[in-house]
Amino acid sequence: MQSKGYAVLEASKPLVPFQFTRRELRSGDVALEIEYAGICHSDIHQAREEWGPAIFPMVPGHEIAGVVIEIGDAVTKFKVGDRIGVGVFIDSCRKCGSCKAGLEQYCVEGMTGTYNGYERDGKTVAQGGYSDTFIIDQDYAITIPANLDMAGVAPLLCAGITLYSPLKNWHAGSGKKVGVIGLGGLGHMGLKFSVALGAHTTVFSHSPEKEADAKAMGAHDFVVTKDPKNLASLAKDFDLILNTVSADIDLTPYLELLKLDGTLVLIGLPGKPYEISTPTLLAQRRSLAGSMIGGIAQMQEMIDFCGEHNIVSEVEVIEPSYINQAYERTVKSDVKYRFVIDAKKF
Ligand code: NAP
Ligand code: ZN
Ligand code: ZN
Repeated sequence: MQSKGYAVLEASKPLVPFQFTRRELRSGDVALEIEYAGICHSDIHQAREEWGPAIFPMVPGHEIAGVVIEIGDAVTKFKVGDRIGVGVFIDSCRKCGSCKAGLEQYCVEGMTGTYNGYERDGKTVAQGGYSDTFIIDQDYAITIPANLDMAGVAPLLCAGITLYSPLKNWHAGSGKKVGVIGLGGLGHMGLKFSVALGAHTTVFSHSPEKEADAKAMGAHDFVVTKDPKNLASLAKDFDLILNTVSADIDLTPYLELLKLDGTLVLIGLPGKPYEISTPTLLAQRRSLAGSMIGGIAQMQEMIDFCGEHNIVSEVEVIEPSYINQAYERTVKSDVKYRFVIDAKKF
């Protein structure tokens, strides 16, 4: 299938228009016309090889919202015209314990990434969502609720699920105190979900100008992290803190805010190891954990939750020619709060 989109041809080089071929439709596949594709900071990390060697040419994009235009013979889950979403992975082994438990992102053989990797045949380069069309196995796509705006939906496929999953796993809800570090694409979804789940929610941000937006999205407290005194003076009573920062920051002041048995979950992936203060962890039997996206079943649960609560991402819709500027602005934390590419313009 012929597709056109934008690709990185060499590490750290600007994205350029790119034509390529996708795999032919298999019996269990659906083809979709992409309407919107979100720009995740993980796209930037990979396009710039901040996580190690990458595969080029690379069409990034793993926040894909589109409409089904063709289905394979064996497809029962979707029909032509359905609005569907695709996230960070397009396949997995389907037989390990994680896959059977619906935790495909933790597949023991490794999930098959939406781009910057090979499909399960080991030779077809997977290309992502900065393009006009996509082909996906029906088991690895989800149904988008009818009431949600498609541009605001696209970021739910990565940013949304990545924050929904740890909030559910660590039981965020009424009576719990939750902190979200970084009000970017992931962080603002964490804020919206935490508030919708009923938790008292604090945003920790190094951008003071984001306070009014955070409050409008339901934040109970907003702490400017530039001055360490602002953290040190807070009560040490957080149940859960989610770190979504894309840069490496000092975790100790946040670990110190956790109450007995509280958990700091690492979600941001700066590519450099963190230094951990062992005494701070020991002091209140605190936990340091990690969390990666979410499985297909939970993605569907998340997006249905969004349908019920009318939750979408705050987006700035851009044309493909603006992708390189959007990357620069994202790196400077100047994104309110997710760039989404209008895929009809490819
Ligand atoms: P983003 O939109 O760029 O947001 C990151 C936020 O971190 C910024 O808006 C900023 O918030 C804060 N920040 C950035 N640089 C900082 C610095 N030097 N010091 C302090 N704070 C800083 O990025 P994103 O798309 O949300 O992604 C965030 C991270 O999560 C990336 O590393 C990405 O690769 C990773 N990620 C992980 C998963 C997973 O499954 N675990 C999934 C997707 C993405 P303030 O301006 O409010 O401070
Ligand atoms: Zn992502
Ligand atoms: Zn598996």
